[in-house]
Amino acid sequence: MSVTENLVKIKKETDSLKVQLIAVSKTKSIDEIKEAYATGQRDFGENQVQELMEKQAALPEDIRWHMIGHLQSNKVKYITPFISLIHSVDSLKLLQEIDKQAQKNNRVIDCLLQVHIADEDTKFGLDYDEVIELLRSEEYSLLKNIRIVGLMGIATNTDNERMIKEEFYELKTLFNGIKLSFFRKDASFKEVSMGMSSDYKIAIEQGSTMIRLGSTIFGSR
Ligand SMILES: *Cc1c(COP(=O)(O)O)cnc(C)c1O
Repeated sequence: MSVTENLVKIKKETDSLKVQLIAVSKTKSIDEIKEAYATGQRDFGENQVQELMEKQAALPEDIRWHMIGHLQSNKVKYITPFISLIHSVDSLKLLQEIDKQAQKNNRVIDCLLQVHIADEDTKFGLDYDEVIELLRSEEYSLLKNIRIVGLMGIATNTDNERMIKEEFYELKTLFNGIKLSFFRKDASFKEVSMGMSSDYKIAIEQGSTMIRLGSTIFGSR
């Protein structure tokens, strides 16, 4: 099926649900992204700074770009002028650098804290206690040019659906707890970015507000 057909299908599936679709376009060409854009898709996710910069420069200005991959502090400055949401904040140091660069650009940049939910050592992210520690820290309270709008997680790459379900459930539960403890009066803390091509249906059942789909839309990489 074409990119257009895939997008129409997935939008039909998710339209009635309160979940936002991020089209993950990493490794895909400008033309493939343009095809998705022509169907009305405006939110795109990339995981490499260089690729993201090149695509941003070549594509329409009203695209909302999402950084979904591991981000090194020394590369933050390249994306701060235009990035819409950074899903992959996994340290206070990175958050401080985003704040510094956002200030230079006169912006407040929306961020998600990436939480380590998978049963694998390879996935980036903060552990639960590190999330709490970060939010309690004085350093965090001083940051004025970032806004934390939710949490992101990547489930274990497995066929075991019960395991994936439990990981998403735990992320949603952590979100609810953090909302109560730290963001009770803050309506903008509302996002749970979870679900990829292989597990987005489970993620939606568990309360995802943002799904990040690559191969379901653009075909395999
Ligand atoms: C690549 C990627 C996706 C999309 O993966 P698919 O399996 O192609 O849907 C989602 N989230 C992150 C963080 C990714 O790196």
